[in-house]
Order: sequence, then C-alpha cells, then structure tokens
Amino acid sequence: MRKPVIAGNWKMYKLLSDAVETSLELKRLVANANHCEVVIAPVFTALKTIADRVEGSNIKVAAQDCSIQNDFGAHTGEVAPVMIKDVGCSHVIVGHSERRQFYGETDESVNWKTMAGLAAGLTPIVCVGEKLEEREAGNAESVVKTQLEGGLKGLTVSDLERIIIAYEPVWAIGTGKTATPEQAQEMHGFIRGVVAETHGAEAAEGLRILYGGSVKPDNIVELMAQEDVDGALVGGASLDAASFAKIVNYKQ
Ligand code: PEP
Repeated sequence: MRKPVIAGNWKMYKLLSDAVETSLELKRLVANANHCEVVIAPVFTALKTIADRVEGSNIKVAAQDCSIQNDFGAHTGEVAPVMIKDVGCSHVIVGHSERRQFYGETDESVNWKTMAGLAAGLTPIVCVGEKLEEREAGNAESVVKTQLEGGLKGLTVSDLERIIIAYEPVWAIGTGKTATPEQAQEMHGFIRGVVAETHGAEAAEGLRILYGGSVKPDNIVELMAQEDVDGALVGGASLDAASFAKIVNYKQ
C-alpha cells in the first residue's frame, strides 16, 4: 500500500511570523490525519524555526530546492542537502517548474540534486510536467518521459524507494486550471509505466506519484480517487492553514 502524501509548497511567501502562525494552526487542524503524510515547504529562512515548531507532530518539513552537492566549499548562495537535513527537514522539492522555467534548472541538475538529497538522507520530491504548448502538440508524454529518465538517471531501485515524484502540468500551476482526474490518472499511469521500464515493476508499484496544479479542497477528493494518484503537491491553497487542512483531511 502506498501511503498518500499531501505536500504544501509555500514558494516565496510568508515572513517568519506568518509561517510560524500558519504551521501552528495547521498542526492543530491536521493532528488526527493518520491516513497520509503531511509535508510543508517554507522558504529557507524559516526552515529551522518551522521544523522546531512542528517537531513531534505529524507534519514534516521540506526545502524548496537544494544544492547539487553536499561538499562544503566556496559555493556562495547555495545550501547543501546535508544542511537542510541538519535543521530538521526530511524532504526537499527538486525540479519545480518555476526553477526549470526561471532559474535554469535542467534534467541534469535535477538528477544531481536528487542524488545529493538522497545522500543527505532527505526524501526528494522530484517534479516533472509538460508546458501547455507541449501538451497541445501531443508531446506531453515524451516530455515527461525525458524529464524522468534524466532526473532519475543512475538511481538504484533502493534509491527509488526513497523518492517521490510530483506530476505538475505547468499549465495547471497557479492558473486555476486543474487537469481533469482522467488526465491526471492517464499521466500518472504513464509515469508508473516508465519507471517500471527503468527500475522494474516492483519499484514502480511502490513509487508515490503526487499530482500538482491548482489542487483545492473542492477537487482533492476526485483526484485522490484515481488509482495512480498518491497525493498532491499544493501551492496556492496550502498558504492558508484552513484550506490546506481541508485538502489533508480529504478522507474524513
Ligand atoms: C505548485 O507550485 O507546485 C503548485 C501546484 O501550485 P498551485 O497549487 O498554486 O497550482
């Protein structure tokens, strides 16, 4: 059985005081959620404080990005996965489409970051997803396959047990346009098939694949009803504790 994961990506929102307030409210609102893992991803400057505040609860903390390596050195502005782990995080988001679009992230850097995250003992949440023009040209699957093959290159079967994939069609992120449950299922099934080819059927069966793209309290139930949808990566609707808690508590 794949335990669902509901993860909130807070992007570059919230000063520390607001992040603390939201995380404490969330902690109270999801205290009984045992059916899924709950992850929140605040900005770097809030990670330690938030990790301390939610310690011992069912909320885990993720960074939104990391360096490609764990070796200390002259890498101004970079944060090593081992440092993220050191402040109490358990997850790291890698290859988010905003980083691919605006900050030069490539499949190769996604691959390095994934490996560095694993080496530090973090769970990488590796994001893939096609742009609107790629979908309209009929290339959605080939784009996602290339991202998966590049991003997961060299990972062993046991590495794969420790990662999570997030399928986030770029056209659905922050746009209010959600993929239909059928579109999500179709791509999630495809992703599982690609991983079955690269890492075997057992690894593919155990892999958790999250859907991301305008997930809201009112569409989470139908998305989670899909066979290959194992959770959600939520942007906008995770910024408000009550709204994110409704998504986490989709089962109750
Ligand atoms: C995201 O940023 O990963 C995301 C899915 O955003 P939103 O839920 O706002 O579409």
